[in-house]
Amino acid sequence: MVSLAPGVDVEGYCSRCKMDLMHVVVAMVGTRPRRVRCRTCGSEHFYHPPQRLKTAARPALRPARRARRQPAPVGLVLEPDPAVSRSYCPDGDFREGEVLHHFKFGYGVVERRLSDGKIEVRFTSGPRLLVMNQIAAPEPAGQPSGADA
Ligand SMILES: [Zn+2]
Repeated sequence: MVSLAPGVDVEGYCSRCKMDLMHVVVAMVGTRPRRVRCRTCGSEHFYHPPQRLKTAARPALRPARRARRQPAPVGLVLEPDPAVSRSYCPDGDFREGEVLHHFKFGYGVVERRLSDGKIEVRFTSGPRLLVMNQIAAPEPAGQPSGADA
């Protein structure tokens, strides 16, 4: 182990140069350098340990090792691709995994076919049950105007 003393070079982080550089120890506290002078910019400042020690201590990940494929977190929408989406309408027929666009909820992915007439769709705002294969029912006529009692 190198014994540190004032006048000895020590590698440290220079707060002015913003990098690890050789410094000259100016003052010691116990066995640790307290104040150092940067050999590069000449500024005197408190001793900071070299920054690379923090990152170099971590073993580098082998690039060959593939990152594990994370399954899509539950509750998160698969990125719906607008290019393959179909507009939702109640009389349509939608398969699981199909991307649809709802006039109100936006893009969503059909998660499950609950029955031939009902699908669960995951929108960014959350899951919704939608009907499908519905024969478009005629719009109910306007409310009968109430008698002015
Ligand atoms: Zn410096």
